[in-house]
Amino acid sequence: MASIFTKIISGEIPSFKIYEDDNYLAFLDINPNALGHTLCIPKKEINEIFDLDDETLSGLMIFSKKVAHAIKKAVVCKRVGVSIIGLEVPHVHVHLIPINKMNDMSFESKINLTQDEFIEIMKKIKSYI
Ligand code: 5GP
Repeated sequence: MASIFTKIISGEIPSFKIYEDDNYLAFLDINPNALGHTLCIPKKEINEIFDLDDETLSGLMIFSKKVAHAIKKAVVCKRVGVSIIGLEVPHVHVHLIPINKMNDMSFESKINLTQDEFIEIMKKIKSYI
């Protein structure tokens, strides 16, 4: 069965898409740790990061770098933290999270955004790609 993220790629499930190319997609996390929390995924549906072939793995990191630079310009933060977990969705994804302190990477405190706030930050990050 197709993963939630494959359904997001196809548009079957709606999302706030930031940027995509032939092989990768960036979109806002629906339950963000922070404003601008973005997921970068390969369009190829693979469960675990280190099962990706070398080309797709390195391409994912280069794609994430481009998105992270745009997030850094769009959101006031000290760093864009990077995390790869995958316990919830079995489709490789890189979390890019604007952070100011170590605990901002904890996934224990979440923020609530309205539809309009999601759209606003999506547009802002997109404008810096
Ligand atoms: P992980 O698999 O790395 O533990 O976490 C999966 C992440 O995907 C979570 O941060 C969760 O909020 C996000 N997520 C799960 N389902 C959806 C969805 O349908 N849309 C979006 N945009 N994000 C999702």
